[in-house]
Amino acid sequence: MIIRLPERFIYSNKGHEDGAYVENGILYMSKYTNFEDLMYTITYVLKGYDRCCYCGEKLSMKNRTLDHMYPRRWGGVSIPENLLPSCKKCNQDKKDMTYRQFQEWRKLATQSEKEKYYQQTLVRNLGVARRGRFVIKRRWLSSYEFENVAKYISFNRLSDRKSKLVSSYYRNWGQYPHPVIVSSNGWVIKGLHVLHHARKAKKKYVMAIVLENVVVYDKDTS
Ligand SMILES: [Zn+2]
Repeated sequence: MIIRLPERFIYSNKGHEDGAYVENGILYMSKYTNFEDLMYTITYVLKGYDRCCYCGEKLSMKNRTLDHMYPRRWGGVSIPENLLPSCKKCNQDKKDMTYRQFQEWRKLATQSEKEKYYQQTLVRNLGVARRGRFVIKRRWLSSYEFENVAKYISFNRLSDRKSKLVSSYYRNWGQYPHPVIVSSNGWVIKGLHVLHHARKAKKKYVMAIVLENVVVYDKDTS
């Protein structure tokens, strides 16, 4: 997928002279860049940070958050298409409802109606997860054959805790907790633990979001 990018943008990387920048519609990011922080910054540049996108409340440093329109719990990832400046209260109220579901929830008058509606969304979203799918836009996803990339990856230093989380998620849902995120030049931005598991489970493909206008560069080798 092509993510939205500002026309001109420079992101400096703490502790490294190389960072990220946009040129001719392509985002170049060094391999040291913290992807989530970068996406948060880009989202604020694109969408502003003055008002909560749900209730219109003025945002300050204290109550400013970025909401995942498709929640992390259902595979929602941190890309500008999935992030919205929101106040803390709305973000908390939203829990793990999607953007649309939360809009409906907000229209309800009483607390008991809201609670009932929330439970319904939970059942629905769990149903999707149980069928081994993510509650995100299908057109963001592609099936990714990872073996060509995986052979260049060293899996030795992965954290055991995250590996266990991925395994237990897979056992319960027959799916991974989130899609893998890959740059256009095949750099795995997010999802090493997922790939590691998929490889052990002898799967050839994983569901991925391939960022076609993002390039990860490695200054050390170029
Ligand atoms: Zn709000």
